Amino acid sequence: MGKTIGIDLGTTNSCVCFIDGDERVVIPNSEGARTTPSVVALTENGQRLVGHLAKRQGETNAENTVYAVKRLIGRRFEEEDVKRVIESSPFKVVGSPKGDAWVHLRGKDYSPSEVSSFILRELKGQAEDYLGEEVTDVVITVPAYFNDAQRQATKDAGRIAGLNVLRIVNEPTAAALAYGLGMADTSGQHRVAVYDLGGGTFDVSILELADGVFSVLSTSGDTFLGGEDFDYRIIDMLADQFNEEHGVDLRENKMALQRLKEEAERAKCELSSREDTSISLPFIHADATGPKHLEASITRDQYEEMITDLVERTMTPCQKALEDAGLAKSEIDVVLLVGGMTRTPMVRREVSAFFEKEPDTSVNPDEVVAMGAAVQSSIVRGELTDVLLLDVTPLTLGIETAGGVFTPLIPRNTTIPCSYMETFTTARDNQQMVRVHVLQGERQMVAGNKSLAKFEMHGIPPAPRGVPEIQVTFNIDENGIVSVSAKDIGTGIEQTVRVVADGGLSENEIERMVEEAAAHEEQDALQAQVAEKRNQAMGLLYSTERSINDYGHMLPPQEREEMAQDVATINELLEGATVDELTTIISSLESTAYRIAEIMYASMSDQPQGGEPAPEE
Ligand code: AMP
Repeated sequence: MGKTIGIDLGTTNSCVCFIDGDERVVIPNSEGARTTPSVVALTENGQRLVGHLAKRQGETNAENTVYAVKRLIGRRFEEEDVKRVIESSPFKVVGSPKGDAWVHLRGKDYSPSEVSSFILRELKGQAEDYLGEEVTDVVITVPAYFNDAQRQATKDAGRIAGLNVLRIVNEPTAAALAYGLGMADTSGQHRVAVYDLGGGTFDVSILELADGVFSVLSTSGDTFLGGEDFDYRIIDMLADQFNEEHGVDLRENKMALQRLKEEAERAKCELSSREDTSISLPFIHADATGPKHLEASITRDQYEEMITDLVERTMTPCQKALEDAGLAKSEIDVVLLVGGMTRTPMVRREVSAFFEKEPDTSVNPDEVVAMGAAVQSSIVRGELTDVLLLDVTPLTLGIETAGGVFTPLIPRNTTIPCSYMETFTTARDNQQMVRVHVLQGERQMVAGNKSLAKFEMHGIPPAPRGVPEIQVTFNIDENGIVSVSAKDIGTGIEQTVRVVADGGLSENEIERMVEEAAAHEEQDALQAQVAEKRNQAMGLLYSTERSINDYGHMLPPQEREEMAQDVATINELLEGATVDELTTIISSLESTAYRIAEIMYASMSDQPQGGEPAPEE
């Protein structure tokens, strides 16, 4: 059985980990970094870049570089939160034919699942390079507060990337798992609050750890609150200042906005360890009066003033999670901080003031989630047997009833997997169809909740109203993903309808993307082969040119002339050559190099030799 990996697919950065015996190993990327930016770009010549390579060229290719795609996954184009992404992103967000939020890059629309699959594929590749074997089985983490569509869309991303998603696990749960299993003293009962503030989402979960059983008592959060919102406070301050001074709104220029974003994030991180930071963006704008530069400085006090409301916003879900768990603050034993944003001193201060205890800082907030995912993959595969994880569904599942009212069936924080059965009947005589609208959310009216699926049960034989019995079963699996099935049992005729809410992509679309990904893989492999061969040819070309220069005088003049001519021709041919052409070029260069070496050594052996013979290898 091959190795399984755990992936923390973060808004800003992603991390991949595997279990090696008792060790949790974070797999570094090709640059040696332990996390990889969740950034994807398409270059002018159609090349796809992921991670650092994509991030580095973001400034000059802003419109085709996608950051924080996790903020769009499983979301509808018309959602209010999506509008905020549209306003703040240098890349273009469009509505898919089904009304989901997609991104538009170089003339083509991509679903967020597909963009995420590029990141997952990159991480899969990193793991395979590191482990020296193919990796397909994976556990992927998602924010605990992700709804069904977002979970499903993340699972789809895994499939498109050629991965077998064993489980979708909530990020705070994964963090608690990694933390709990690493505790020196695991005896007794520990109540842990996980405060997870990442690049784009905020989650809080309360867990009880006792004798290898990890029970999530409650979870709450905000899938649209994270580091990017903090960056925006700095961006807005700088852009407003610049606007006042020069009458130009830098947010309207995509390239300038990208530079502002990067600088704001850098400043934000610096303010975690320093009392002030200076900002310098030379040549950020140019007009008839010449180039304009942006110079500013921010103190930590100023920054904290700008972000107070954002930090405070995280306390409402903390309060809700405590209430749902039925616990007082004093009953929490450990507060765990997860997500890069928890390095912010104000966040630490406010969290410790809220829970009335100092947070535990023993875990690395950037890696602990991926570690937990890897631990979970060992549990799912039965390699780790004395641990049981009981998670909950973050949102209430229900249906639409008369008057647009949302009627809850499975309340939030119910332990998963779980199911609920309800019997429906007809409202009119001879009604032949029953329609069920399934939703998720906490609002009392349908309009405020997330619609998961609408399905119709047809073919009900004519009967007086109230007689047919349609039994509908709602299931939430261990990934938090919902499925609904219905059976007409009232007349004795059984009919089963199975509805699985989708993550925005149909089965056909997923399959097409899987195929495209596989095709792209071939193209990528070919590109890599060409690059490797070209490097080999260029190396040989360089050394042959040098040999001709240095030892050409030993060759008959005509042969030397021919060789120089060949080398010049090859130099021209190199650009745009195929693998086969490059193979021919390499072998021709090798013959030339051998011919020179032959003549060189022959002429040397004509000269008197001295010293010991070289030992045989
Ligand atoms: P994550 O999603 O957990 O990778 O968190 C990424 C977020 O944490 C991004 O918004 C980063 O800018 C932010 N972050 C990373 N390091 C720091 C730091 N030292 N201080 C403040 N925020 C940070």
